Amino acid sequence: MSNLLELDHVTKLYPVGGLFSRKSIKAVNDVSFSLDGDKPEIFAIVGESGSGKSTIAKMMLGNEIPNSGRLVFDGVDISNIRNRAQREAFMAKVQPVFQNPFEAFNPLTRVDAYLFGTAHRFAGANTLQEKETLSDQALQRVGLSMAEIKGRFSHELSGGQLQRVAVARALIPSPKLIVADEPVSMVDASLRMSIVNLFRSLRDELKVSIIYITHDLATAYYISDRVIIMQKGVVIESGGARAVLDNPTHPYSIALKNAVLPPDPKAASAAIRLRGVRAAI
Ligand code: ADP
Ligand code: MG
Repeated sequence: MSNLLELDHVTKLYPVGGLFSRKSIKAVNDVSFSLDGDKPEIFAIVGESGSGKSTIAKMMLGNEIPNSGRLVFDGVDISNIRNRAQREAFMAKVQPVFQNPFEAFNPLTRVDAYLFGTAHRFAGANTLQEKETLSDQALQRVGLSMAEIKGRFSHELSGGQLQRVAVARALIPSPKLIVADEPVSMVDASLRMSIVNLFRSLRDELKVSIIYITHDLATAYYISDRVIIMQKGVVIESGGARAVLDNPTHPYSIALKNAVLPPDPKAASAAIRLRGVRAAI
C-alpha cells in the first residue's frame, strides 16, 4: 500500500510586520496526514478564513514550499521538483480548481482556449480536432459539451457553468488528485449540491482523489470520506467525516458546528436534511 500524498509535519511561516521585521506567523503548523494510493477519497479540509487551508493547497500544488516538513506526492518530494519536465509531469497528476471561476478565466480569453491549452500541454493533443475531442470528453463528464461553450467568454456563462468548465479543464490530464480550494463558495447556492455531487461521481467513476477545501460544514459532511478541521494553522480534529462532524470534541469544532447547525441533535439532523433539500432544488 503506497500513499498518493503524504504531508509529514508540514509547517509554513509567513513574515509579518514589514521588510525588516523578524516576526512571522505559522500559517500552517505541523500538519500531517496522508491519502491512500489505492483508495480514492474525498478529503475535506475545513476551517474558518485564515486557518491555513489555502496555504496547504498552494503547497500541495507546488506553488509554495514548506519551511519544514515534507509533502510527498506519488513517492516524490514536491520540494525537490526542479526542472520543467518534472514539473509538467507533476502538474498533470495534481490539478487545481479554484474558488472564483471568474478570476481563474481571463475575461478576454475564450474559455475553450483554456481547455485546448491544457489538452496540448498535458495530454499531447496537437491538432484542433484532438484538442476539441479531449475537451468535449471532459466537458461531457461534468454535464456540459463543447457545443455549449465553444467560442464563449467567461461572462457569457453562469458561475456554476464556469466552475464546471474549470473542473472539466482539470480532468483533461487524467489527474490522480484534484485540489479544490473553496470550489463552491462563489457558486449560486442552488447549484452547489450539483457541483459537490459531481466531485463524488469523479471519485467513484474516475477514481480520482479530491482535496475538498471549504468553510462549509454541511457540504463537507455530505460528500467527504475524511475530514480535518483547522484553526490557526493547526489540525485540531481529524477522522471519518461523519464521526468528526456528528461528534466534534474540540471547542472550536463545536462552535463551528453550532454556527451552522442548531445544537440540539434532532434539530441538527433535520437542518442537514433541509440544507441538502434546499440546495438540491
Ligand atoms: P485560509 O485559506 O484558511 O483562509 P490562508 O492559508 O489563506 O487561510 O492563510 C493563513 C494565514 O496565513 C492567514 O493569517 C493569512 O493572512 C496568512 N497568509 C497567507 N498567505 C500569505 C502571504 N502570501 N503572505 C503573508 N501572510 C499570508
Ligand atoms: Mg483560502
